[in-house]
Amino acid sequence: MALIVQKYGGTSVGSVERIQNVAERVIETYQQGNEVVVVVSAMGKSTDHLIELANNISDSPSKRELDLLVSTGEQISMSLLAMAIQQRGYDAVSLTGWQAGIKTEAVHGNARIMDIDPKRINGELATGKIVIVAGFQGITENEEIATLGRGGSDTTAVALAASLKAEKCEIYTDVTGVFTTDPRVVKGARKLEAISYDEMLELANLGAGVLHPRSVEFAKNYDVPLEVRSSIDKETGTRIEEEVEMEGNLMVRGIAFEDNVTKVTVHGLPDGMATLSTLFTTLSNHHINVDIIIQNTNGNQSTDISFSVDSVALQETLEVLSQHQSQLNFEQVSYEGDLAKVSIVGSGMISNPGVAAKMFDVLARDQIKVKMVSTSEIKVSTIVDSSSMITAIECLHDAFELEARKPVSTV
Ligand code: ASP
Ligand code: MG
Repeated sequence: MALIVQKYGGTSVGSVERIQNVAERVIETYQQGNEVVVVVSAMGKSTDHLIELANNISDSPSKRELDLLVSTGEQISMSLLAMAIQQRGYDAVSLTGWQAGIKTEAVHGNARIMDIDPKRINGELATGKIVIVAGFQGITENEEIATLGRGGSDTTAVALAASLKAEKCEIYTDVTGVFTTDPRVVKGARKLEAISYDEMLELANLGAGVLHPRSVEFAKNYDVPLEVRSSIDKETGTRIEEEVEMEGNLMVRGIAFEDNVTKVTVHGLPDGMATLSTLFTTLSNHHINVDIIIQNTNGNQSTDISFSVDSVALQETLEVLSQHQSQLNFEQVSYEGDLAKVSIVGSGMISNPGVAAKMFDVLARDQIKVKMVSTSEIKVSTIVDSSSMITAIECLHDAFELEARKPVSTV
């Protein structure tokens, strides 16, 4: 008998009909002779609504109370799903994060899973039940409810699959798989048959919303076979696994993008050994997440440092810099908003030089100015004007022949 973990996202459990549909699919898997553990998200946009309620009550709701509040969303869908399964004559039990033995670090709003005690789940499975677990939540050592960050139910599912040594973890969502880029943006976007953990991790971190980045990290570290597929359509989805061959001379697997980027430049910093560390320590002490960094040393012992931030963090970044101007000893700050990040990802880059060059060439031909660049072994990210973002994605999708390819094969 195989154990399968299935996770259903917010849209997939967004209404009574959808929950009935999920119940049918879960039962189908169970009837095929599998043990089934199901992880659910909150219904539809209910997490957003709960956060909005909190913000209407208080300017800065306590993080502890916020976690208690938002963790209720998943408890609604898990119990409704259990009822829907029971209604069909099957035995099901729903469990909150703590009942399921999910232990997290002592952080509210973005906690990591530290450990899972699978005793209760295993006990329930042993009596033949379908087990449903609330996604996105766990319990700290001090028995406080903590949530895992937006989109964190994916991570609950993969962590459970690892801990229960499941045969696979299926992530059911409102798209049919992982695409070469967002099919809502590029018409020719193609569904991938398979993608490697590393590529998926880059895409998830670079803004492809399909999977919570930490879930991919977990899957990679514990070798959990993952599949992203639709909860409505029956077609096979996208497998995420360790090694996935690049087809032919394909170098790029997918394109991710993110709007709302701002480039901040701090001018006239002292050109000393400690400058970078002081500047970025100051920003990180204020929890400002910087992304791409560029340093420009001027001839005259001073240096300019540019970095990109999410536009929502701009105001705070400017305030922090201005509060620390004398300590950091810079002349002035400037910034450029309305930027976007467009990234190409593919393990084919490791063995093919010239991928970045080709990317810049394509963008230049279309008169798209690249403002910042960062690379890793398997990705190249560029910062461009928001207004050229879509053209950039389309041209790159075309130039790297992502549309024409047959689905990538792993055989
Ligand atoms: N309900 C949570 C959210 O909306 C967690 C999840 O759906 O994965 O972020
Ligand atoms: Mg999600």
